[in-house]
Amino acid sequence: MNDGAWSNLCTMLGFDSPRVVRFRRFPPKGAHGGMIFGQAQRDPQRIFIYLCASDFDGPSLRKAQQELVLTLLHELKHLQQFKEWPMEKWDEDVRRPYPLRVSEREAESFAQGMAHQWRDIAKIKRVFRGSLTRLKEAEQRVIK
Ligand SMILES: [Zn+2]
Repeated sequence: MNDGAWSNLCTMLGFDSPRVVRFRRFPPKGAHGGMIFGQAQRDPQRIFIYLCASDFDGPSLRKAQQELVLTLLHELKHLQQFKEWPMEKWDEDVRRPYPLRVSEREAESFAQGMAHQWRDIAKIKRVFRGSLTRLKEAEQRVIK
């Protein structure tokens, strides 16, 4: 993580301190088909990022980097929604089918709109090692 940039972004979104981000190695149950997954937790407020690090070499590294930034921005927007939305708004929103939820659309357009400006909030670096070492290193490098 680029702590300075992340802190600035969190301040911009009205958080009194930078939100905690935890990195995990495996995707959550039921997730499939991507390299990076994110989850926003309401209480305590934090973000989980799941890395499928064996994919992070060769041409997919650049894509993983873009996905990481988009995912962090998307989940951070959810944390802001947790903070600001009244419960009635959530209750109404979760009754909609997933792709039609206001919370998801808002998080997605925030992520897309901010991705360029905040592309340095976290970096995945390429490493040439055995796959297990590479996995561990990729994880540590993202964590920092
Ligand atoms: Zn979402």
